[in-house]
Amino acid sequence: MQSAAFAVRIAAIAERLTVNEHTLSMRLERVATHVPEGARLADIGSDHGYLPVALMLRERIEYAVAGEVANTPFAAAQRNVRKQGLERRIAVRLADGLTVIAPDDRITVVSLCGMGGETICEILEAGRAHLAGVERLVLQPNGAEPQVRQWLMSNGYRIVAEDVLREHRFDYEIIVAEPGYVAYNPQQLYFGPLLMQDHGQAFHVKWQRMLGQKKQTLANFAQARVAVPPAKVADFEQQVDWITRLLAERPHTED
Ligand code: SAM
Repeated sequence: MQSAAFAVRIAAIAERLTVNEHTLSMRLERVATHVPEGARLADIGSDHGYLPVALMLRERIEYAVAGEVANTPFAAAQRNVRKQGLERRIAVRLADGLTVIAPDDRITVVSLCGMGGETICEILEAGRAHLAGVERLVLQPNGAEPQVRQWLMSNGYRIVAEDVLREHRFDYEIIVAEPGYVAYNPQQLYFGPLLMQDHGQAFHVKWQRMLGQKKQTLANFAQARVAVPPAKVADFEQQVDWITRLLAERPHTED
């Protein structure tokens, strides 16, 4: 079976073949809808800078910082911003995580997309001081979504919108959060508090697929030559139980 990391890599390659600063992938297009009109955006891990450039060309945002930690994507973002003549409105900077944000930028929205949920949490945790004044986080983790929700809850953010979509045979979740206090239960952290409430078709199909995968993993555990730690088996059994109940509780609504 393909590993999740392999699937993400294939999805990224497929995306690179079709995406540019005018035509965003379906994933980034969906992310873009969560950036409010007139925002001052910091896009962290911007890669080619497609998101801020597309939003600026559409006159949706006022100003942007495109932050990159790696030289090659940093140079690509610089090239794209220059090509569109947007140097005065999009600052492309080479820096680690949220340290790219300066107080004078007056950033209102931070986006962190297309990286692992653990990495997103590490970047948020390390750069908490740079989030003062930021009104919205738009996050699109590749996996570890519950961990991202847990970080948000533990750090004074409430989830105001959630989205799930499938592109290039990969399920993507988008989590939008704003400052505020709220307590989510373990199932809400696992499925997404708003996603499980809306229970749209993409959500339903994703969890049907996940149920099959989790059951297969449990079957593999049962046949493993080396005993799998009981806590790990119990964790998967819990997940299978939650998913089974959720899918049985409600038929999906139209997306
Ligand atoms: N955000 C774009 C998207 O969603 O299409 C690009 C995603 S790309 C797969 C992830 C990017 O995050 C890479 O270009 C990587 O260099 C950058 N990145 C990873 N860790 C970072 C960090 N700590 N600070 C800034 N950029 C980072």
